[in-house]
Amino acid sequence: MTDILQSTPSIDDMLHAIKTYRARTGCKPGSQHAALIDMDGVLYDSMKYHTLAWQRMVSEQGIDCDRDEFYLYEGMTGKATIDLIWRRERGVGVSDDEVKRLYAIKARYFVEMGRKETMPGADRMLQALMKAGWDRVLVTGSAQSSLLERLDEDYPGAFVAERRVTALDVTHGKPDPEPYLRGLQKLNARPCEAIVIENAPLGVRAGVEAGCFTVAVTTGPIPRKEFEKEKADLIFPSMPAFAEALPTLIRLFN
Ligand code: CA
Repeated sequence: MTDILQSTPSIDDMLHAIKTYRARTGCKPGSQHAALIDMDGVLYDSMKYHTLAWQRMVSEQGIDCDRDEFYLYEGMTGKATIDLIWRRERGVGVSDDEVKRLYAIKARYFVEMGRKETMPGADRMLQALMKAGWDRVLVTGSAQSSLLERLDEDYPGAFVAERRVTALDVTHGKPDPEPYLRGLQKLNARPCEAIVIENAPLGVRAGVEAGCFTVAVTTGPIPRKEFEKEKADLIFPSMPAFAEALPTLIRLFN
């Protein structure tokens, strides 16, 4: 599914995206001072394990599924993903107890696959934000404690404890804007003041609907056009490419 040609936005592309965002929202220059950052596929190269774990659990329940489809559900809570598949295949939703049981199986398979790699370039991205004095908030649809517990070790000082939004903090997961709106609440900030950093189309939709300037970084097999459809403000072909451009982007916001 990977596009053959994926280019990094130029300075002109970045300026144009900022101008377009300001025209749409009325945001003023110098407003942004924070980033709301997704976890899986942004900070960790974990989606390949999540999609395998999902496929294994769902197949074992007698439901035919394609591994790639789980990339498209990325960002949704586990409950929402299970509900979507069971309604589609069986015509009925699943009780809360059954959701918990099924999600626990999927989570176990994920953990059994061992330690997940950090995403190349993510550390550099966080360093650029910290150097510029921008606040960071983690906004994830995950409740996977095996990764959440490792954040401090892998990214020391990047996310203080009270600036994390997980699946346990929201009623509606992505693509609903609620997770990003909660992230803004944690900063006491308006949508103009924070950018969203995402790797999944549904996460991009959540960021855009929250009213934030939303950057898509394509770190998996989902083609660029899916992020265009969700109206990402900028699309980068990899995390190292985004990390490289970020100091310039931060400067252009001012
Ligand atoms: Ca993600």
